[in-house]
Amino acid sequence: MQENISQPLVIYNTLSRKKELFEPINPPFVGMYVCGPTVYSDVHLGNCRTFISFDLIYRYLLHIGYKVRYVRNITDAGHLEGDNDEGDDKFAKKAKLEQLEPMEIVQKYTLGFHEILRIFNTLPPSIEPTATGHIVEQIEMIKEILAAGFAYEINGTVYFDVEKYSKEYSYGVLTNRKLEDLLEGTRELSGQDQKKGRLDFALWIKAKPETLMQWPSPWGWGFPGWHIECSAMSAKYLGATFDIHGGGMDLQATHHTNEIAQSQACNHTRPVKYWVHTNMLTVNGARMSKTAGNGFLPNELFTGAHPVLERGYSPMSVRFFMAQSHYRSTLDFSNEALQAAEKGYVKLMESMKRISKIEPAAKSSVNIDEIRENCYAAMNDDFNSPVLIAHLFEAVRVINSAVDKTETLNASDIETLKSLMQTFVFDVLGLIDESEANAGGEVINGLMSLIIDIRKTARENKDWATSDKIRDELKAAGVEIKDTKDGVEWRI
Ligand code: AMP
Ligand code: ZN
Repeated sequence: MQENISQPLVIYNTLSRKKELFEPINPPFVGMYVCGPTVYSDVHLGNCRTFISFDLIYRYLLHIGYKVRYVRNITDAGHLEGDNDEGDDKFAKKAKLEQLEPMEIVQKYTLGFHEILRIFNTLPPSIEPTATGHIVEQIEMIKEILAAGFAYEINGTVYFDVEKYSKEYSYGVLTNRKLEDLLEGTRELSGQDQKKGRLDFALWIKAKPETLMQWPSPWGWGFPGWHIECSAMSAKYLGATFDIHGGGMDLQATHHTNEIAQSQACNHTRPVKYWVHTNMLTVNGARMSKTAGNGFLPNELFTGAHPVLERGYSPMSVRFFMAQSHYRSTLDFSNEALQAAEKGYVKLMESMKRISKIEPAAKSSVNIDEIRENCYAAMNDDFNSPVLIAHLFEAVRVINSAVDKTETLNASDIETLKSLMQTFVFDVLGLIDESEANAGGEVINGLMSLIIDIRKTARENKDWATSDKIRDELKAAGVEIKDTKDGVEWRI
């Protein structure tokens, strides 16, 4: 799609376990579905990693010219405590605990989720459907799966028949596992279980009298299973087969495996062309999760109010920290790694401000087109953001050298460099300059140049008292100014 770039986009597909040329079904349109949060509690930083990774993918696809319909759902019903279709509904449990209506729980945590993703500067999806808003579509899909013979009803609960399905299709395609191996990993059915097969999962669950959220269905009052919501909503908004389906790697073995089975049973076609999975954020090597209790919240990270944190870190340092690792690698949280990322982020932002100080020369001593090509090549190689960042730091070196006049750039290369940095740092990596954003942008820039001018005049008049007062009081207000051979630089 993009011009002047030799290398086309390749994406690693979990289904084929290799990188594949990205060829959307109906270009330039791209359908992308990402499993969204379960909104019965706050999202932790691990969840944010997944959504920020898909934001980078979304931003890059938009940048290279695709028209992306990005659907990210909100799971607001159907999530049970146990893995075996038993246990309480998590929403009901939380509602009882907080003495709220289940929909108050949903509203509270959905708003919190939006706010956190706004702070991380992620773009909103094109459609954000909720499970409770699509009960009818889920019931319809279950009816079709029953009619096709791949499900059965027992006492108001409908189960997907994995054994029957496996006679026609490969149930373990996504994880490349045979049915026998999958069966080995599950417990024997007990007398308590009403389902027929150990791998069978619920499509519809019969409500108990005390179930807080329940709907009428052909099988009586109940609520949908978790997996069916994503199959029903992705098919509704993106069609029976669409381009990209994403989520964290923890969803592969069960949730996404079951999604494939449901869609295949209903539509007789594989629902997704490219399955994309992001790796986990870990803390001391262990996956960050709601149940493990090792998940700190983004707000704790910003303020430093958590025992694991030495101090607070700004949202953009955290976003930069995440972009420094590839989305398919695990990322281990540590204070040292975040502090290093913070330094890198500040260096990047400072160099962006310095571009305007480069004086054009007649000839360039550096090949800017090559750096530009390398940036695209990195992103076209399965969205390799760490390699992209390495090339951006080569650009930073060029900017600093050009300001110091140890390298030269002609006027057109300066423009290319400027647009390259704008594109990749702001549009693709989704970073914002916090010193400007926090400072109220333009206004503060104007005020700062006025203050710096007054200080300059004071120094020319040898009025050291005024000059020192300006520097000290700015410092007390959190603004640091530095005298360099190119003039005065400042940062918050
Ligand atoms: P949940 O709200 O638990 O359903 O999770 C929402 C999304 O976050 C899913 O795509 C998960 O795969 C993902 N996720 C959960 N834990 C982590 C983690 N530690 N690191 C990265 N992604 C995660
Ligand atoms: Zn899902």
